[in-house]
Amino acid sequence: MTQRKLIAVRIDPNLCVGSGMCVSSYPDKFAFQPDGHARYISPELDEAAAREAEEMCPVSAISLVFDEGEQQ
Ligand code: SF4
Repeated sequence: MTQRKLIAVRIDPNLCVGSGMCVSSYPDKFAFQPDGHARYISPELDEAAAREAEEMCPVSAISLVFDEGEQQ
């Protein structure tokens, strides 16, 4: 079994509707930008938090990027 490493947490600004679910659940990891879209702001990539935010986002705007180039 290969060990995948999380290398980025992406938020598609074209999909994000600014619901704030990710920001209110993980205020140290996600924050609103001046354009009203959320962004992952923590220098530490927390896979558990990112995965939970990905699951709760109502428009599936959050995606996790792993070092093998696969988005899940
Ligand atoms: S939960 Fe999704 S739609 Fe809501 S602010 Fe976060 S990324 Fe945007």
